[in-house]
Amino acid sequence: MANVYRKIYKEIKKHDTIVIARHIGADPDALGSELALKELILNKFPKKQVYAIGNPSNRFKFMGTLDKLEDVDTSSALLIVLDTPDLKRIDGAKINDYKTVIKIDHHPIVDNFGSIEVVDDNASSTSQLILELIFKNRLKLTKNIAEKLYIGIVSDTGRFMHDYTSARTFELVTKMLKKTNLDFTKVYEPLYKRPLAEFRFQGYIYENMDVTENGLAYIKISDDLLKEYEVDSASSGNIISELNCIDEILVWIFLTEDKKSNLIRANIRSRGPAINEVAAIYGGGGHKLASGARLTSWSQAENLIEDLDKITEKYLNEQNQ
Ligand code: AMP
Repeated sequence: MANVYRKIYKEIKKHDTIVIARHIGADPDALGSELALKELILNKFPKKQVYAIGNPSNRFKFMGTLDKLEDVDTSSALLIVLDTPDLKRIDGAKINDYKTVIKIDHHPIVDNFGSIEVVDDNASSTSQLILELIFKNRLKLTKNIAEKLYIGIVSDTGRFMHDYTSARTFELVTKMLKKTNLDFTKVYEPLYKRPLAEFRFQGYIYENMDVTENGLAYIKISDDLLKEYEVDSASSGNIISELNCIDEILVWIFLTEDKKSNLIRANIRSRGPAINEVAAIYGGGGHKLASGARLTSWSQAENLIEDLDKITEKYLNEQNQ
């Protein structure tokens, strides 16, 4: 792997214009890795034009601002796609518009793209892979960059709890903290502070979700309900991981109406059964234990609930053998 990180550095050095993209539906790992990489490149090569693009997220705007690609000729530019396994989910860039494309990701492979690909689905986060890039090339790590990467890592690992948090994760984070003296306990407040309305909505979910005898929890959330609680469809994504430690629940799914986009968002999590293959049947995907999909109807949602219940039952049977 060391070699591939050297190759990436060489490509960065070669190009005057560099665009950094990530997946739609910005989350802290995607944002942290793209903003950190932009700063890293500009610190080393201040004359380069570097753009970190994609739709901004209101909730995570404290992490930094994103760029617009207006009137930028990308035909001789480098595109670095972060945290995105599939072409269809790249936010704001088309690979054919660029001279060179690099992919850096920690999801299982969906589409192969990029003349250089770093895909490590055993890595906790894309921010962890950016740390590898930094240390393999002895690039300068500042406090600002470390903060963004730390937020990306703690967020994708659920504060070092989820699968794929490894000794390597701790090794890299320790090295980063020692080098920068980042006051990391300060970063949690903006990351985890949420409005009271969302906590009240969370209470509604706990009270009203259904749980099957196999341990699948599910809830359908209509636009009217979101309005009643004064939250938006993104709130579900902020709550879904909170159900991780409920004894009776093995797999859980929130189905949230997104009226603006005219679709139903599925956030799915698991403590055992692999859910990403089921999500893929519905045009979605993700990790084994954390997946999502965008559905077009409530009947599709019903089918997805049934399929998830079936794999949960199968998993339980296998465990009991
Ligand atoms: P979320 O529930 O939105 O936090 O997503 C959990 C995981 O599933 C993330 O790794 C996403 O990249 C992935 N994911 C979410 N939605 C989709 C989708 N529509 N298609 C493919 N992967 C998705």
